[in-house]
Amino acid sequence: MAEITLDNIRHAYGPVRDPDDYALKTLNHVWTDGGAFALLGPSGCGKTTLLNIISGLITPTEGRILFDGVDVTHLPPEARNIAQVFQFPVVYDTMTVAENLAFPLKNRGVRRADIKTRVANIIDMLDLGAVAGKKAASLTADLKQKISLGRGMVRENVSAILFDEPLTVIDPHLKWQLRTQLKTLHREFGHTMVYVTHDQTEALTFADRVVVMVGGEVVQVGSPEELFARPRHTFVGYFIGSPGMNVLPVTVDGATAHLGDERIALPAPVAAPRGARIELGVRPEFVVLGHEGMPFRITRVDDVGRERIVHGTIAGRPVSAIVPEEGTVPDMPRAFFRQDGINLYADDWRIEYLS
Ligand code: ATP
Repeated sequence: MAEITLDNIRHAYGPVRDPDDYALKTLNHVWTDGGAFALLGPSGCGKTTLLNIISGLITPTEGRILFDGVDVTHLPPEARNIAQVFQFPVVYDTMTVAENLAFPLKNRGVRRADIKTRVANIIDMLDLGAVAGKKAASLTADLKQKISLGRGMVRENVSAILFDEPLTVIDPHLKWQLRTQLKTLHREFGHTMVYVTHDQTEALTFADRVVVMVGGEVVQVGSPEELFARPRHTFVGYFIGSPGMNVLPVTVDGATAHLGDERIALPAPVAAPRGARIELGVRPEFVVLGHEGMPFRITRVDDVGRERIVHGTIAGRPVSAIVPEEGTVPDMPRAFFRQDGINLYADDWRIEYLS
């Protein structure tokens, strides 16, 4: 396992005429040894580019990449000791499941007894016992991808394991099970793992730290709790959560925000930068509907089982609220925002309260 340092990395696939030509904007980050990380962002945001820079498939246009302090920027993938699991299964159809799992170890001359133990361990963890002696060709796509995951995890001394959207071909009900198994394997073996996905549930359930990207830029690195409670950028607020954070245009005057003619008390004063676009972010979980606060005009109610999502407007702006199953909503409700759920943004970046 290794600590992976990205030092002023930047990457462009073609000539650079302006800063937007970089597919990956300047990035400094340390992936600590043994951590479980997710790279989360919409299609085209640069996740695969970053993963390929770590694995060595791409040499970055600028910057250095270090494994445990050693510069590997110009080393090819085979010299980096990285295991990778891709979107689609990579298995040998003519080999049995156990042989497929043993292959990366045999290739590297691992002792026979160690191969046996290690393969048995992976078979057990991934619940592959029933098919261990079967040829891979006869298996479903789900099972083949499980073997790919196992092959990625089987080597003990890898610097890191990189997963590029590994659950794409997996049946939805199996996804949850596999995510849990991956988490167990991480706890058991302590590998540094980087998991690329555009699915927030996958990222938040797998990772201790999530790196959120948009437009080639990392906008926040944080624990799932931090991304929920304190989105650093409006994109994080909107991309994470279901539904995402409400983002409302406001003006601010000390500890009061003004949304149209409505006044919203803030937990503390903020100093809004002059000329900046100021917005208030509040997650639907912190919008309380009842008899107090600002008039809320309901436009639609979605009943999603354990809760209801009530969509409406406040001062003409769309706002969603989550109401627990047992909660009631008056016909002409009012709404207030819980102060611990209010964040303020200047030109999309979160601003701190003054006290
Ligand atoms: P997806 O989830 O769709 O795989 P991603 O977040 O992994 O997307 P990348 O594949 O890293 O994003 O792409 C980032 C940007 O770089 C995109 O604008 C993409 O079009 C561009 N890009 C990726 N690969 C190349 C390439 N080989 N040549 C030129 N441009 C590329």
